[in-house]
Amino acid sequence: MSNQSLIPATLIPGDGIGPEIVGATIEILDAIQAPFKWDRQLAGMAGVDASGDPLPQSTIESIHKTGLVLKGPLTTPVGKGYRSINVTLRREFGLYANVRPTKTLIKGGRFDNIDIVVVRENLEGFYAAMENHIPVDNDLKAIATCAGYTSRKECRRIVKFAFDYAVQNNRKKVTLVHKANILKELCGLFLEEGRKVAKEYEGKIACEERIVDACSMELVIKPETYDVIVTTNLFGDILSDLTSGLTGGLGLAPGANIGEKAAMFEAVHGSAPDIAGKNCANPIAVLRAATLMLKHVKRDDLAKRIDKAIHKVVVEDKIRTRDLGGNVTTKEITAALKQAVA
Ligand code: NAD
Repeated sequence: MSNQSLIPATLIPGDGIGPEIVGATIEILDAIQAPFKWDRQLAGMAGVDASGDPLPQSTIESIHKTGLVLKGPLTTPVGKGYRSINVTLRREFGLYANVRPTKTLIKGGRFDNIDIVVVRENLEGFYAAMENHIPVDNDLKAIATCAGYTSRKECRRIVKFAFDYAVQNNRKKVTLVHKANILKELCGLFLEEGRKVAKEYEGKIACEERIVDACSMELVIKPETYDVIVTTNLFGDILSDLTSGLTGGLGLAPGANIGEKAAMFEAVHGSAPDIAGKNCANPIAVLRAATLMLKHVKRDDLAKRIDKAIHKVVVEDKIRTRDLGGNVTTKEITAALKQAVA
């Protein structure tokens, strides 16, 4: 393929298991001559180690230029240190929709027919991180506060995104998930706008409403009744981990962050420091994120080849990493996937 026909894209290997699984994904993308010209950049702890900056300027500039990112997971220090770089990237590039598809791969488990897409609002809610403390007596942090917000504009935009996704992907139903019974304003606005948008799709896409707690219960009892879920930031973060757990765990779950200025593709999971460097991480979640990226640039043909290879290796040949009950290494499953995709 000539250099001119390649699509410029930013590659962030990430932290922890990131370099291993992103490296594996690139090997497979190379094997099918995926049309990307990678600009490798750092972020997270890797950025701190290299230059003291978890989000170096060169990384921001690269994404501004390419508008397309494949990203490994980034470590966020818990309860201290810098703010989540994932959250910062989503805000910097206006990546308002987080799309997390989950589909049964290995049948014979508790649920054989799960095919759910969680569309999560990615910029607002409690992740706007307007956190503070109120001192009492000598304790400066006696009370911790967090103010979340939702805007009519973003509520409308995310629900519309979910309905358009449903139309484009032959889906039948969108469920609005909220907590408007308690958070009457924050979630009430989401529900109000959601209902208005749903009316515009009447006769084409069905719409249901669920309170998030009832939805969580139904997702573990009868997940096959769900199709597309659209919800606010925090609920979407939690529910998409839940749905990935129903179908084989985080090692299989990809996500796409879509915005006006850029699109960023990544695994749902984090940097898994407990298994980093042990050659046992499952690369399939990042590989599936790469298939979403291929579909985004209208190379569904290549995405299908990878999906087929994943099915052959994991389902037919039962070559599985530890998280899927197998015992092959990251390198071994990568070699098998490369062979299957050829
Ligand atoms: P995690 O997702 O990293 O790990 C949770 C569990 O799943 C661990 O037992 C881990 O070993 C396992 N796991 C995750 N990915 C796996 C894979 N590909 N193959 C096999 N097993 C896998 O969650 P955590 O431990 O809560 O978070 C670790 C760090 O990652 C934190 O700093 C967190 O902030 C960050 N994080 C980043 C992202 C992101 O970059 N998008 C997302 C979530 C968490």
